[in-house]
Amino acid sequence: MAFVITSPCIDEKAADCVEVCPVDAIHDAGETFLIDPNTCIDCGACEPVCPVAAIFQDDFVPDTEQKWIQINKDFYNK
Ligand code: SF4
Repeated sequence: MAFVITSPCIDEKAADCVEVCPVDAIHDAGETFLIDPNTCIDCGACEPVCPVAAIFQDDFVPDTEQKWIQINKDFYNK
């Protein structure tokens, strides 16, 4: 499992999540930040600090945001 950044991050990019992540799993990916699922240790620290509620554990991503699970993965599998 891992946490996932979804569409509310677009054009927001507050970066509070980057500052709290203990393993540097969150990186600038252009229009959003994204989370490296191979590095994320599921600590949950990023979720409550996001001002636009863009971060979810992958099992709890809303139906309308499901594609973001793959978007986060694909960015790190390039
Ligand atoms: S859940 Fe923890 S380890 Fe994973 S991205 Fe968020 S802050 Fe980083």
